[in-house]
Amino acid sequence: MREIILLKLGEVVLKGLNRHSFEETLLQNIRRRLAGLGEFDVRELQSTIYVTPRGGEDLFEAQERLKKVFGIASLTRARETEKNMDAILEAAAEYLRPQLSAARTFKVESKRSDKKFPLNSPQICAKAGDYLLGRFPNLRVNVVEPDYTVRIEVRDRAAYVHGNALRGAGGMPVGTSGKAAVLISGGIDSPVAAWMTARRGAELVAVHFASPPYTSERAEQKVKDLLAKVGTYAGRVVMFTVPFAHVQEQILQNCPEDLFTVLMRRMMMRCAEAIARREGCGALVTGESLGQVASQTMEAIACTDAVAGMPVFRPLIGMDKVDIVALANRIDTYELSIQPYEDCCTIFTPKHPRTRPALESMEKAERPLDCAALAADCVARAKRTLISPLE
Ligand code: ATP
Ligand code: MG
Repeated sequence: MREIILLKLGEVVLKGLNRHSFEETLLQNIRRRLAGLGEFDVRELQSTIYVTPRGGEDLFEAQERLKKVFGIASLTRARETEKNMDAILEAAAEYLRPQLSAARTFKVESKRSDKKFPLNSPQICAKAGDYLLGRFPNLRVNVVEPDYTVRIEVRDRAAYVHGNALRGAGGMPVGTSGKAAVLISGGIDSPVAAWMTARRGAELVAVHFASPPYTSERAEQKVKDLLAKVGTYAGRVVMFTVPFAHVQEQILQNCPEDLFTVLMRRMMMRCAEAIARREGCGALVTGESLGQVASQTMEAIACTDAVAGMPVFRPLIGMDKVDIVALANRIDTYELSIQPYEDCCTIFTPKHPRTRPALESMEKAERPLDCAALAADCVARAKRTLISPLE
């Protein structure tokens, strides 16, 4: 019989009346992620999603992709068998032969959702345990701490045999929490913040500030590459590249140097918010973490937020850098992030930034600037690119 992939839903199962639309979105996301790999039948029954290849599709690659789909708690490849005990036992011995040959101890767990099946779960376990002990003389039963667990599920349409499940990406299906605009640099933090936001079900729009001629084409490409990586989880991302050199020059020429970074951050917020509104986003997202640098003290963040007319999410606010780096490694953005390309934030950094700026001094410092006009001009010149997930 066939080999398929079984997916268990995550938090989606907690959703009452919205459950159906959550599941539909998840199925759609799964189909989209598998589209390039061939023909798969994807359907949901009793809180489990069945992914069945129609031909000789590569299940290894399919599983690798499904590990990155938000909304899935766990996944496993499984052998589908007829619903009779002989077929199930034979399938278990054959399909799990490599693992069972290598193990010293094992146990069997079983679940029977088809209550018409003649044996109940304990009886299935006992029978399968006996059978496998006979077939694999290397094995002993250990129900407390087995090397390997054989799992047998008897469901409505068929029975399934598999081993340990892999952990899924968790979270909520992308598209079930609306859209958010993430301010993305080429650094370590903002791609992680983007990932965390997508994991809670938000579709991402990305806003990147570039300052040619001070920043290079290559620096912008790095951000695109990062988004393509995050996209293996978040799906396609629309990116806006906003030309920012003129704004930075205006701040530099007209405002006190020690306030430069937060003044720039306030301009970024104004531009990002305009784009976010136009794109139907309900929040802005940054990669800031409390106290990490001068512009991320509580006072500096207050000055930044004062110009934002929509919620600003900072998923990393309470994380240490080592934790952020660990997460960046897990989602495979770290190596790209540490490539040394200039960012618009690093080209004009004041020597002694004010760490506890007051809002009144910010507003006073901005008086020579026409902030609304500067932001409108940037947004009008922003370039739109559609970033597809890196395959
Ligand atoms: P990161 O690793 O994300 O660059 P960082 O610790 O270097 O973070 P800053 O450079 O102070 O921090 O930037 C703080 C946040 O401001 C970033 O996480 C990002 O959300 C936003 N940001 C910084 N530079 C840019 C940029 N060029 N374009 C868009 N957003 C930016
Ligand atoms: Mg940065």
